Amino acid sequence: MSIFASGLTRAALAVAGAACAVTGAVVGVGPAVAAPTALAPGTAGLVPGLAVSYTLAANDGRAQGIQMYITSGKRTDAEQRQLWRNAIATYGSPAAARRWVLPAEESPHVRGEAVDVGPWEGAAWLERNGHRWGLCRTFVNEWWHFELATTPGTACPPMWPDAAVRADRRGI
Ligand SMILES: [Zn+2]
Repeated sequence: MSIFASGLTRAALAVAGAACAVTGAVVGVGPAVAAPTALAPGTAGLVPGLAVSYTLAANDGRAQGIQMYITSGKRTDAEQRQLWRNAIATYGSPAAARRWVLPAEESPHVRGEAVDVGPWEGAAWLERNGHRWGLCRTFVNEWWHFELATTPGTACPPMWPDAAVRADRRGI
């Protein structure tokens, strides 16, 4: 039997490959980063680069005594549609709701490209340090929401006021 018959081995190889993609951008400006041996809880369904980057960041934070966990990562279409309906009920109109929750076809969570992080102290640490792995807080009104938004090791771009402003600007 080939070693590739092992699901665990396949997963480890996938993680290693994703880590190379993430860390490849920093070759030449810093030490190579070892691939994590296991992905952080809550990363299932995320694009591989985000899953690996978040795991590396969370591991580094933990080594410094910082607690951090994903409160919401990949969402299904159905989950996002329910959140959208709830938000319209909460905020009173689609226009108001859209500042906080995007419709399924616009949400980076449905694409596996965003993580919401808690508690506040962990998110604040990630906001200060996440750029080392390409992770950035992207919205002024959501301290918990992070995406891959910069080349690892370089500064994050300015935050958007809220998700609706960005979606309108980008057309997604
Ligand atoms: Zn979010």
